[in-house]
Amino acid sequence: MTTSETQRTYAAEDAFELVMPTITLSLDEANDWLAMIAEAEGVDSPLVFKSKMSKNYGALALPAEWCIAVRRSKVTQLLLLHEPAHLLCAKENHGIEFRTELVRLVRRYISFPHASGLCQSFKTSGLSLSDSKPIFEELSNKLAFVIRSFLEQSDAHSAYQP
Ligand SMILES: [Zn+2]
Repeated sequence: MTTSETQRTYAAEDAFELVMPTITLSLDEANDWLAMIAEAEGVDSPLVFKSKMSKNYGALALPAEWCIAVRRSKVTQLLLLHEPAHLLCAKENHGIEFRTELVRLVRRYISFPHASGLCQSFKTSGLSLSDSKPIFEELSNKLAFVIRSFLEQSDAHSAYQP
């Protein structure tokens, strides 16, 4: 079910951010950072702007306008990368293509340990990634244990136990 996969994706990202926080940026910094990433990825730079939106979302990608709307004027790098991952995917959902793309962006523009941690968090939630990323199989058991502990404590996750 799409909703369940989406909720589990959000829960896995939230649990990961509790264990391995990413840097918080202002909107100006966010636009600069995404402009650098867009140039490296060979795509147009998306505009990040603050907008009123449902409390269910921290940010929203608008593919037709090539924009990213955010709810607050401070955003984390992970929240920001979530949206370009949507812009770079053919499908507009939170499926395997999306997760694999997000982990790739995190690895390239945040850090390898963060990418490993996010990958582990997805897998702990039963969310698979493309098999073309075998390097992420080499994860430390300790990191996996910490993330699993956070997921087990998370109410959001427990509501979506497979
Ligand atoms: Zn999303």
